[in-house]
Parts: sequence; structure tokens; C-alpha cells
Amino acid sequence: MSFLEVIKEFHPKDVAQAIEAKGPEDVEHALGAKRLSLDDFMALLSPCAEAYLEEMAQKAHAITVKRFGKTILLYAPLYISNECSNSCSYCGFNVTNKIPRKTLTLDEIEEEAKVLHNQGFRHVLLLTGEAPSRCGLDYIEAAIRRIRPLFSSIAVEIYPLDEAGYRRLINAGVDGLTVYQETYDKDLYLNLHPRGKKRDYVWRLLTPERGGRAGMRRIGIGALLGLSDFRVDGFYTGLHAMYLQKHFWRTQVTVSFPRIRPAEGGFRPLSPVTDKNLVQLICAMRLLIHDAGLVLSTRESAELRNNLLPLGITQMSAGSCTAPGGYSHKADTAGQFEIHDTRTPEDVFSYIRSRGYDPVWKDWDTAFLSK
Ligand code: SF4
Repeated sequence: MSFLEVIKEFHPKDVAQAIEAKGPEDVEHALGAKRLSLDDFMALLSPCAEAYLEEMAQKAHAITVKRFGKTILLYAPLYISNECSNSCSYCGFNVTNKIPRKTLTLDEIEEEAKVLHNQGFRHVLLLTGEAPSRCGLDYIEAAIRRIRPLFSSIAVEIYPLDEAGYRRLINAGVDGLTVYQETYDKDLYLNLHPRGKKRDYVWRLLTPERGGRAGMRRIGIGALLGLSDFRVDGFYTGLHAMYLQKHFWRTQVTVSFPRIRPAEGGFRPLSPVTDKNLVQLICAMRLLIHDAGLVLSTRESAELRNNLLPLGITQMSAGSCTAPGGYSHKADTAGQFEIHDTRTPEDVFSYIRSRGYDPVWKDWDTAFLSK
């Protein structure tokens, strides 16, 4: 059974109503449960649970320390192209935006990679838009082979591929795949993606499964917060993470919490997500899935990231630039969105350490897989 069949059982209107209807008894039941049922998860996502945030935060912290210790993995995004044939309403790379476009040469990619390597990063996330004619699989594969000696883990956040495509990337040295559904609400999804291949909701929804079947060691999912009701999209994200954990038990599942940031095109969040909402979502997710990595990017302010640190986060980006070529040169191209936490990787590293956590540059080596 694919996740498409699972999600069909949960209509967004029913999910919203069920979450809204949860009361104090439901929340208290969820807080007392060793393992959450989907009903419990809904209770923790409900407006009623906002009165229990402190208790949720304490539980989330305790579970995370038990499962992960006090380590925070640091990674950096590496944008190699901002060309895209899609028109996602919220994205600076939207094909209709008149921004300078650039796809890095292999030498430029290596130059960028060396900057990140020298800053200490050993985990990198390679990103592109969706423009296979300018940025095809051969090019992405060559980029991976070029930077592979510099990193112990390379993940990709590129346009969805078929299973064979992911196998090719794994053979080239990739071990992680990140793909956000943006919103699980199909009608809204179609509104926000008026043209291009990304309009295919089902192709995107089933991407993590194709990655799992191909043998990805890490798979990251998430909803773009600010598009739809965060409680409903949060529920689907949790459901999706549980599905992936069950079907690809050798793969580490991670969940990200990207909130919409200002970008070219001036898109404004349709359903704004407050800091308090974000805290509730992160805590509820940790209480649902104890073993999943929870990821927080530089979309959030330094102050908020500092405060969210003990709540269940296990991975953070640092010193990010979302414009291709922006690490080695002052970018003459546009970024995907504005960064909020502009601290250097060193500053983030020192802050994490000052809070009694262990910031780590590396928790994996491809040699683990060598025969
Ligand atoms: S979100 Fe991705 S696919 Fe959509 S416009 Fe931006 S880069 Fe292109």
C-alpha cells in the first residue's frame, strides 16, 4: 500500500474538524501515553493543547535526550542552480520571476564546496530548481562525484526522480534525499503550483517512497509552513513520517519545519504560523516519532533557534546562502528566499556548545557502507 492510499483515508476537512474538537481530556491522555495514537497526535496539535506547551516541551526534551543524547548535527545547503521551469507561487526561483539565473560549472561547485569544507562542514545538502534541460541528471551526478572527496555525507534536494535516478545518485555518493510536499492539501497544492512538472501532486507525494526503495539512507520530508493550516499539514507530515519509518526501517527519517520567508515575487503566507505554533508542532512531532531527526534551518531567527534547541531538534544548518555561487563570491544571482539567522557557522557552533550540547560536523562516513 503506497502512502497515497493511506492519505486518502484522511480528508483535510475531517482532519481539521477532528483536531479542532479535541479537549483537555484528550490532550492529557496524549501526554500520559507511552506511544501516541493518531488521535493523541491530533490532540497535541489542537488549539486546546496550547495550554499544555510547557509539559509538551519537557517531554519532547526528555525523549530527544534519551534517543539522541545532546548532539546537534550541523549541515550546509549548497545551491548549484537557481534555474527552474516551475512556478511555485511562494518561491524566488519561480520561472516568472525576472532574476539573474545561474547554473554553476563543476569548478565553481568545487570552489563553493571547499569554502564549506574549510568552515568545518562534512554534511552538505545539494540543491537545484527543476530545470532538467539545464541541470540534468548527468550534471548533478558529475557534481556529486566532484565534491564527494570533501564530504562524508551528501544529500540532495532536487526535482523528484524515478527510482533508477536515485540509484544513480546513490552510486555517485549520495546518501540522503530531502523532498517537501509543501502542502498535503491537494486542492491548495494545485492552486499554488499552476504550471510545470511540480504540478503533479501524486508524483511528488510518492517521491520519498521511490527514494526509500532505491536505498536512500536518510529521507527528509516536511510541509512548507504558512501555506495551509499548520495543524492539518502537521498531522499529514507525522502520518507520512510514520509510514516511511514502517516501510523503510533501515532509513533514517527526518522532518523539517520550513516557514515561508520573504522572497522574490512577494508571496505572503496564506495561513501564518506563529513562533508558538512552531513550538507546538515541533513538540507534538517529537512525541509522535521518537526516533526521527528533527531539522531546523536558518529560515528562523538566531533567537528563536536558540530557544528551540532543547525541544527536540537534532540537525541545524548554519551560515547558509541560498544563491548559487554565494559562498565563494558575493552572489550576483538571486537566492531562493531570505535567510534569517545570519550567524557564521563558527558562532552557531560556539552557541550550541555554550548550551551544553555537542555540535557535530560529522556523524556518518560513506566508508561504513564499503564492502
Ligand atoms: S520551489 Fe523548487 S520547483 Fe518550485 S519554483 Fe522553487 S525551485 Fe522551482
